[in-house]
Amino acid sequence: MSFNELTGKVITPSDKEYDILRLEYNLAINKFPLAIVYCYDYVDVSNAIKWCRRNHVRLRIRNGGHNYEGYSTGTGILIIDTLYMNKIDIDTEQNIAKIQSGALLGNIYSKLWDQGYGFYGGTCPSVGISGLVLGGGIGLSCRNFGLVTDNLLELQIVDESGKLLTVNRNINPELFWACRGAGGGNFGVVICYTFKVYKVDKITLIQLRWDGSSRDKFFDLWQRWLKTAPIKISCFSGFNKNSIYLNGFFYGSKSEAEKILEKFLLLPGLLDDSSIEHVPFIDAVGAIGSFYGPPNRFKATGRFVYRTLTKGNIKNLIEYVDMSPGEDSCYIRLYSLGGKIKNLPNNYSAYYYRSAKYIIGITADWEKDENAKLYTSWVEEVFKYVKPLTDGCYVNFPYAELKNYGYAYYGGNYHDLKKVKRTYDPNDIFKFQQSIKP
Ligand SMILES: Cc1cc2nc3c(=O)[nH]c(=O)nc-3n(C[C@H](O)[C@H](O)[C@H](O)COP(=O)(O)OP(=O)(O)OC[C@H]3O[C@@H](n4cnc5c(N)ncnc54)[C@H](O)[C@@H]3O)c2cc1C
Repeated sequence: MSFNELTGKVITPSDKEYDILRLEYNLAINKFPLAIVYCYDYVDVSNAIKWCRRNHVRLRIRNGGHNYEGYSTGTGILIIDTLYMNKIDIDTEQNIAKIQSGALLGNIYSKLWDQGYGFYGGTCPSVGISGLVLGGGIGLSCRNFGLVTDNLLELQIVDESGKLLTVNRNINPELFWACRGAGGGNFGVVICYTFKVYKVDKITLIQLRWDGSSRDKFFDLWQRWLKTAPIKISCFSGFNKNSIYLNGFFYGSKSEAEKILEKFLLLPGLLDDSSIEHVPFIDAVGAIGSFYGPPNRFKATGRFVYRTLTKGNIKNLIEYVDMSPGEDSCYIRLYSLGGKIKNLPNNYSAYYYRSAKYIIGITADWEKDENAKLYTSWVEEVFKYVKPLTDGCYVNFPYAELKNYGYAYYGGNYHDLKKVKRTYDPNDIFKFQQSIKP
């Protein structure tokens, strides 16, 4: 087997950058790919797929490398990395953006802002557009604009034979349906996306902080408040042993936001560094993005919540957090859904759990490898408790231990996804631990 037949920039274990470039954002993932090929265009991608088939080498696809379980890497496989394909072209006449599949969120936000546009992406600037949009994509604008994937108009993808396909509502429509919620690593290597984009100016940035004293009241208020909250507000919040946070974007004025959040502002334990400010969209994105530190080791997952949890459920979840290892690195997190997401039927695209109220996240991070078991066991224990209270898992917060993962991620859409897989990847070239089986 010769790497010379690959085109693009090839990194192998004999290159000094290999030990850095083989890593994922989650440092708990420790895999040793045979090589990494950084592609510059679709021809490099196509060559890489054909090379893998000729040489009987398994492949993985990578963009931002943020998959929680490391499904964009592996040992003894070829990583097809699109990071160098990161052009962003904006058509201000039609309000569309063509974004290549290697772009990272931070860059997308700033390029669009330069032309007066916002983006409805997630919160972390180093997350890749590909993993995000192909799994759904939620963020602090998702109730107002829908999922990232709901704003996708077209994509270009290289299929299992190395052929470039255009995919949209009229051309390869089943594949378009499948890629919007189940596309990550399953059907081919996406090269480029076309998105609908919206002009924005100033929005209200919400950053509220409390000590840990009102966690029970906060959680109960969160779930009740969300039932009637206006769609122009989206929030991510959570708590650990000693603190609570709520971050949000509101597409309206500061005074309106204060009114909408009135009950939260009255909760005991609100800290002085809380703020609600009317700021340029890009400053709001920057403020939220600045919370992400350097990569660490972590285990995390998330389940869709449909029903109102009882006071007893909430008390138990707080107890789990209080019994968690370490000081402050185990969280229950809450990600608001609803709004525009729920206006569409469950089979509109592969993203299934459209009328869930929010996602409950269970996250733990640690610094030393020897602590991994302690923290992953905590996530596992809380997951077991949360599972019967909730319905399905968000594929972008994947969990390797899931049984029947296909139904957990895609619910009633899984059956049709298997059909699409049989049509577009009958030989199961795009296979990983939790891929869709043909
Ligand atoms: C710190 C952090 C913050 C996050 N914040 C949010 C958030 O606000 N909202 C949210 O919805 N999610 C969030 N996530 C989850 C995130 O959406 C997923 O981890 C996503 O899959 C990451 O995409 P990526 O391209 O960076 O990852 P990768 O690991 O590179 O890829 C993820 C998956 O997509 C596949 N893939 C990558 N590129 C392509 C391609 N070109 N064609 C086909 N398949 C491809 C991979 O094979 C893999 O299966 C966050 C994750 C982290 C670690």
